[in-house]
Amino acid sequence: MAVYTLPELPYDYSALAPVISPEIIELHHDKHHAAYVKGANDTLEQLAEARDKETWGSINGLEKNLAFHLSGHILHSIYWHNMTGDGGGEPLAADGVGELADAIAESFGSFAAFKAQLSKAAATTQGSGWGVLAYEPLSGRLIVEQVYDHQGNVGQGSTPILVFDAWEHAFYLQYKNQKVDFIEAMWQVVNWQDVARRFEVARSRTNALLLTP
Ligand code: MN
Repeated sequence: MAVYTLPELPYDYSALAPVISPEIIELHHDKHHAAYVKGANDTLEQLAEARDKETWGSINGLEKNLAFHLSGHILHSIYWHNMTGDGGGEPLAADGVGELADAIAESFGSFAAFKAQLSKAAATTQGSGWGVLAYEPLSGRLIVEQVYDHQGNVGQGSTPILVFDAWEHAFYLQYKNQKVDFIEAMWQVVNWQDVARRFEVARSRTNALLLTP
């Protein structure tokens, strides 16, 4: 029985056009995201088999596959909700997302400086990766991470709240090699209400990192 399932998109394939074409959304969700869900489930089965048979020869590969597919599933599940056809601009107190706006200003100096850092981190990924805004609980700050594949270069314990997919499958059919243009366009569809909701939950949950003996 599958542990992980492919979530439905919160909108139809054309909802983010012209920033992201319906063809990309359909392939990205129905094929790429689905493959990560299947990969995570398959890897859990293979790990169960290894435990049963006590055959540990493939443990390194299986643990890497689990991190890759599970992280791919999680990031895409956030990605779809981070975007809306009614999005864009910047978070404003008047829209009920003032605490997120304040946290961005405190952590990065200004919204413009934050936007520049996340854009650069996403656009300069080498190979496949993501630009991620994450809540880092030890400092209580927001940080930008440049993630390799789905799982590398991540600060342990941080929670992603806004993710920019910088894999070629996210843009190549429409933007060809112009990754910088794709990342710039992405800002037009950011759903700040969703980012603010994730920020609130990340910030308020019990922080195991700060537990003392
Ligand atoms: Mn992707």
